[in-house]
Amino acid sequence: MTILVTGATGQLGRLVIQSLLERGADPQSIIAGARDTAKAADLGVRVARLDYTEPSSIAAALEGVDAVLLISGSEVGRRTEQHQAVIDAAKRAGVTKFVYTSAPKATTSDLVLAPEHKATEEAITEAGIPAVILRNNWYTENYAADLARAAETGVIAAGAGDGRVASASRKDFAEAAAVVLLEDGHLGQVYELGGDVAWSYDDLAAAIAEITGRGVEYRRLTPDEQSASLRAAGFDEGTVGFVVALDAGIAGGALADTDGTLARLLGRPTTPLVDGLRAIA
Ligand code: NDP
Repeated sequence: MTILVTGATGQLGRLVIQSLLERGADPQSIIAGARDTAKAADLGVRVARLDYTEPSSIAAALEGVDAVLLISGSEVGRRTEQHQAVIDAAKRAGVTKFVYTSAPKATTSDLVLAPEHKATEEAITEAGIPAVILRNNWYTENYAADLARAAETGVIAAGAGDGRVASASRKDFAEAAAVVLLEDGHLGQVYELGGDVAWSYDDLAAAIAEITGRGVEYRRLTPDEQSASLRAAGFDEGTVGFVVALDAGIAGGALADTDGTLARLLGRPTTPLVDGLRAIA
């Protein structure tokens, strides 16, 4: 079986390739899809140029491919169209397994990031291709900047209220993708994937305190306070609105659910918050 991984030069994509190899996949059966192939040269697998904005590159990369992992793109606002191009090409190529990295409860969530994932899931359904949806919760690594800042200031300031986040490490999500790509029996599933523990920002502060050895406090910001603080730090209005909306989504519980599916796929517990943070400290 030949497996194509898009976004293979990204942080998640690299870990997926690594996990496929660790699970015994033949390097010749894996194709790293990369818009800049030089960046994929060290991955130890075959490489194909693949740019979401160039349908001809997608069609060429899919030649002889059985299974595809479409790692959602990083150009927010352009992703629906980019993902559609990959779905169309995969349908034409007759792939037998199409795996997509989505977002928690993508079709019903009011999270600011959800609409492009919802549109992509709907496009996959519309195309009628055999698929598996991986609705990934947050990467613990998203908190690298909070960790660094709190190590200096002793404060995490956010608008997440009492919202909880069922994060897991990128490696956990990457391994789950590798499992689903390599194993039979997952077609048609929509997996809500999150860490075993949904933690609060007070828990996050406590975890950072444990790692840094200093007191860390979680300061709850209102949307207005958060906007003002982001503007003062020099962020543009688009970014300010986006971050405030994201935190409001977290406060509303958009990332709080976890049902153990990720751990079941991995056959082990997910990486605890404090361990995930320690790895990036
Ligand atoms: P990265 O930014 O590290 O990687 C993104 C990958 O997408 C890179 O390989 C990049 O290529 C590739 N890419 C971007 N645009 C194109 C394009 N036009 N054509 C082909 N490839 C393209 O993100 P991560 O690996 O950390 O995360 C993977 C995805 O998960 C993100 O793209 C995003 O959709 C989502 N995400 C999820 C988060 C979560 O917490 N669950 C947090 C952040 C993102 P290149 O190397 O050339 O730039």
